[in-house]
Amino acid sequence: MTAAAPTDGGLVDRYGRVARDLRVSLTDKCNLRCTYCMPAEGLPWLAGPQLLTDDEIVRLVGVAVRLLGVTEVRFTGGEPLIRPGLAGIVAAVAALEPRPRISLTTNGLGLDRLAPALRAAGLDRVNVSLDTLDAARFARLTRRDRLADVLAGLAGAAAAGLTPIKINSVLMRGVNDDEAPALLRFALAHGYELRFIEQMPLDAQHGWDRAAMVTAEEILAALRTGFDLAPDPAERGAAPAETWLVDGGPARVGVIGTVTRPFCGDCDRTRLTADGQVRACLFATEESDLRGALRGGADDAELARRWRAATWGKRAGHGIDDPAFLQPARPMSAIGG
Ligand code: SAM
Ligand code: SF4
Repeated sequence: MTAAAPTDGGLVDRYGRVARDLRVSLTDKCNLRCTYCMPAEGLPWLAGPQLLTDDEIVRLVGVAVRLLGVTEVRFTGGEPLIRPGLAGIVAAVAALEPRPRISLTTNGLGLDRLAPALRAAGLDRVNVSLDTLDAARFARLTRRDRLADVLAGLAGAAAAGLTPIKINSVLMRGVNDDEAPALLRFALAHGYELRFIEQMPLDAQHGWDRAAMVTAEEILAALRTGFDLAPDPAERGAAPAETWLVDGGPARVGVIGTVTRPFCGDCDRTRLTADGQVRACLFATEESDLRGALRGGADDAELARRWRAATWGKRAGHGIDDPAFLQPARPMSAIGG
């Protein structure tokens, strides 16, 4: 092990992990208010000048792809579909050499309308978040009565060929934790791949409670009441989801057990916030300011150097179970989930 960050090559940390998967938050704003993510009144949003411009985003993604070995780019937020320049950003990133794979994590609102243009711009696939199939529950959980729009968004994404489509679901005790089998039936019927995500301590209101969290174990037990699950023989690699074959396959279901089954040892993520900060981990309490460097005139080599240094400092694990764990100051919506 060397003592200092490498001066060239990819995004390596001191534990030997290599980050090739970049999550880019395009905005901290959102048109839903999921209770596990944001308070009803929203949050103090980033001011316009704090946000990276479309050109700045493309420049930084270009540094990651051309100089730092990033091969996967996922746009997220907040809600990425509300960023006006989204299709142009996707097109510019799709024109990079070597072309990265490009995906989007979205709540699905407006996706029915936007999917064809995003597909044409070069978007490869989408993850759509959907926690319940019951309209009244959806309205309570997201504080907006928009279930029909999400379902239309999913259908629009499928029609536009943004496949394979994955659905992200967070289960909350006493809210929607009885819906795991129904969500899986829905996903199987439409050919979507469902992944459950354990609720994480990243909400702005600091309401997360380890004892109340629905665990991966509980999710699997609930699914087994309706389905036969067998371990997926496919290589997991750096994927956060553990997957199971459903009723003999080929359909699969995934569980992302960030809290009870951490996968930090295989993590290959690096993150760029909407205001141009690099984060080596969702749960990092440190950030590295690329926006300031970029606006101060740094060249691509200098931006790459800073990104490598930020990655080198990545911690071994998220430490949620450590009594000294500190929730990061930024909530999930401002980091980019
Ligand atoms: N707005 C988009 C969406 O909802 O898909 C993208 C951003 S959202 C922060 C990304 C993912 O993070 C969503 O699937 C959401 O359910 C998940 N998420 C948000 N807060 C979470 C939390 N506290 N624990 C676990 N997952 C969370
Ligand atoms: Fe918005 Fe996504 Fe957070 Fe829900 S989870 S409030 S859709 S950013």
